[in-house]
Amino acid sequence: MKEIILAKFGEIVLKGLNRCSFEDALARNVRRRLKPLGRFDYWKAQSTLYIRPLDDETDFEEVMDRVRCIFGIVKIARAAEVEKDFEAIKQSAAEYLGDTLSTAKTFKVRSKRSDKSFGMNSPEICTLLGEYLIDKFPNLSVDVHNPEVTVNVEIREKAFIHAGAEDGAGGIPVGTSGRGMLLLSGGIDSPVAGVMMAKRGVVISAIHFESPPYTSERARLKVEKLASLMARYCGSVNFHCVPFTKIQEALRDNAPEELFTILMRRLMMEIAQRICEKENLSCLITGESLGQVASQTMDAVVCTDNACRIPVFRPLIGMDKSEIVAVARKIKTFETSIEPYEDCCTVFTPKHPKTRPNVTDVIAAQLAFDYEPMIAEAVENTRAYTINAK
Ligand code: ATP
Ligand code: MG
Repeated sequence: MKEIILAKFGEIVLKGLNRCSFEDALARNVRRRLKPLGRFDYWKAQSTLYIRPLDDETDFEEVMDRVRCIFGIVKIARAAEVEKDFEAIKQSAAEYLGDTLSTAKTFKVRSKRSDKSFGMNSPEICTLLGEYLIDKFPNLSVDVHNPEVTVNVEIREKAFIHAGAEDGAGGIPVGTSGRGMLLLSGGIDSPVAGVMMAKRGVVISAIHFESPPYTSERARLKVEKLASLMARYCGSVNFHCVPFTKIQEALRDNAPEELFTILMRRLMMEIAQRICEKENLSCLITGESLGQVASQTMDAVVCTDNACRIPVFRPLIGMDKSEIVAVARKIKTFETSIEPYEDCCTVFTPKHPKTRPNVTDVIAAQLAFDYEPMIAEAVENTRAYTINAK
């Protein structure tokens, strides 16, 4: 018996004329993710992407794990593919779902017939298949309201049998909403922010600021690992590592202590957007959440934004930490994020940062020292490389 995966499209079915390009982007993303796992046949019909393995041995669990992370898919079912012949359907249902059916107490059959030329209608399929299964598995009785197992039969260009579809990642396909640069630290928040924007179709590049020797190589490796975990959802991440030590030392030596953090953030934004301009990315993305720390008060965010020429998206702005942590656990970045390595943001941080900075003072403090040569040098010495999903 052949096994197949049915991946049902989500919102993209609503996109009218763009529908084709959305579906193509989704199919492309699926192909790219599954390519290392073997050869597959793909085709689209009735808002579903069919994924059929062509090799004798396919690691279905791994395939499912990968498909679960692809945005644009709302439901995923692993199904048996059978000829459209009721005898074959009956036998295959008993065989394919035998393990569950032989231990369950209650079940029902649900049938969907997209091919109206099939000789039986849905109620007939349900009744006759139900009777056959009760005969075969005497432990079973029908419960239409709250069954332990639902046997699904979909009559399309073939018949597909499965025990129910699970939820997919939702969202819209990566590659359908432009490209953005995520400021990626080693913390909990920024990977979540990146994946949330990818969920709305944005291709994610990442930029990380490091300050050796104050920050270690292991701290950077941790951030690279976060990027590779994100890549399961975002696709490969174009990663940029900026040497930030000189700028931080200059800020320590020249900036008013209480404005250190806000000026540092403005310079991060400046460097990030210069790289965006070079690489034609249209926005910045951060993991900021309003009021979470001194640099994320409304006044601080206003001062940071004042240094930006392109839009800054902050998808976590209205989320509580506990809500962010829940997403971090779901996308499996949490355990890595809490590994205890230092971030450049914790280097030279003032004891009493200003929580209500004003733009005029901040600009004056920035102009009091010529940071430009260091900014240019940092941009020049930024290393860029691709990080793939593990
Ligand atoms: P996170 O959990 O994402 O580290 P945080 O709560 O620690 O966030 P901050 O340290 O104030 O918050 O940083 C706010 C945002 O600034 C981060 O979400 C991230 O987008 C960006 N950021 C902070 N440090 C760095 C860094 N070293 N490199 C790149 N971006 C950074
Ligand atoms: Mg941080």
